[in-house]
Amino acid sequence: MTIAARSAPTTTSFVPGFAGLACAACGTPAPAGPRFVCDRCFGPLEATYDHARAGESLSRETIAARPRTLWRFAELLPIDEPPPDGLAVGFSPLLPAPRLAARLGLRQLWLKDDSRNPTLSFKDRNVAIAAARARRFGFETLACASTGNLAASVAATAAVSGMKAVVLVPADLEPAKIAQAEALGARVARIDGPYDVVNRLCLELSDEFEGWAVVNVNLRPYYSEGSKSVAFEVAEQLGWRAPDAVVAPIASGSLYTKLRRGFDELAAVGLIETPNTRHIGGQPAGCGPVATAFGTGSDTIRPVARPDTIVRSLAIGSPADGQRSLALARGSGGSVEAVEDADTIAAIRLLAETEGILTETAGGVTLGALRLAITRGVVGRDDEVVVVITGNGLKTLDVIVDGTSGDVIEPSLDAFATWALKEGVS
Ligand SMILES: *Cc1c(COP(=O)(O)O)cnc(C)c1O
Ligand SMILES: [Zn+2]
Repeated sequence: MTIAARSAPTTTSFVPGFAGLACAACGTPAPAGPRFVCDRCFGPLEATYDHARAGESLSRETIAARPRTLWRFAELLPIDEPPPDGLAVGFSPLLPAPRLAARLGLRQLWLKDDSRNPTLSFKDRNVAIAAARARRFGFETLACASTGNLAASVAATAAVSGMKAVVLVPADLEPAKIAQAEALGARVARIDGPYDVVNRLCLELSDEFEGWAVVNVNLRPYYSEGSKSVAFEVAEQLGWRAPDAVVAPIASGSLYTKLRRGFDELAAVGLIETPNTRHIGGQPAGCGPVATAFGTGSDTIRPVARPDTIVRSLAIGSPADGQRSLALARGSGGSVEAVEDADTIAAIRLLAETEGILTETAGGVTLGALRLAITRGVVGRDDEVVVVITGNGLKTLDVIVDGTSGDVIEPSLDAFATWALKEGVS
């Protein structure tokens, strides 16, 4: 199989299942448009679907014949026209992980390697959908508040869509992530403050800068739906079923909760049985408001004002979908684990040495959360487990190694033999 830079258009017939927006709190419908809060109660708007209609054109066979991108499941995504051309996003591999499974004492472990997206993180899924809607609504600039990965995704997606990109990031973000967004052509505004401050600024500017689609603000109802496609693909790749347990990181809680939504919607259109999946979430201990509430049995999620962790991509002190995440963890028999930075680094190393996959810090938190869930008996030996790897390790290499600190060896066999002895590789 060759990897295409752009996705081929979907050729099979498309009947949209998308049925407009509705308030998640009071249910009041709202027409599709660049809006994200309910006029009536200020609750968050979310996408709704006509599942009977979506189910008419979605069979296992029609899906199998489609291009290997997230648009395979277009009827269950918030678009009302055929999927656009663009970056080849989604359909990342679901890899068996036998060596890692053996180390963890599990029998069936899979890695959904979403670091293999065009800009090396799962955020390409969210942005693909937000950009499709942004063009449809007539916006010319794609913008975002980013904990790192969203910035590069917005940059690349804007480029391929012929739009401008403006990204706002906390000033002290990993240099590799800022550089990636800049190199892809975005204007990067480094804001003096943590993510929640950057996000608040984005909320304000989305009112002022009228030509801007701020993907995680005024296009959030569309943006967040992209995460469901991870669940759609996992179910298809497992042979049309949901796993016993799925493990994912939590920043705003969108990916974590949309995984369940994805399985539920596949069941609603008759593609899988009703899921019975336990949802395990991971947060860094230095910014784990949902993990803390879960651990203490509290219903209140207390915001973390000053995140203190190496895991920048998950450093959201006030998660938008925190309550829903807590409810999902409890309702599904799962858990939300707080992972110390040292254990995150150990987990990154474990994944690298067992399966040859280098993940960023968020992936370390995810695997660290699985280890904790196993220790606490939330996940057992016979469970079929899927771990979602959301970002690539090249983006956070600095926390693992410093590639320039090794000895410089004289080019002689003697000198090399001395080095090999010292390294224990002779
Ligand atoms: C954004 C992000 C997440 C989680 O995001 P949510 O806001 O919880 O959906 C997880 N991993 C990585 C690498 C990310 O960039
Ligand atoms: Zn409402």
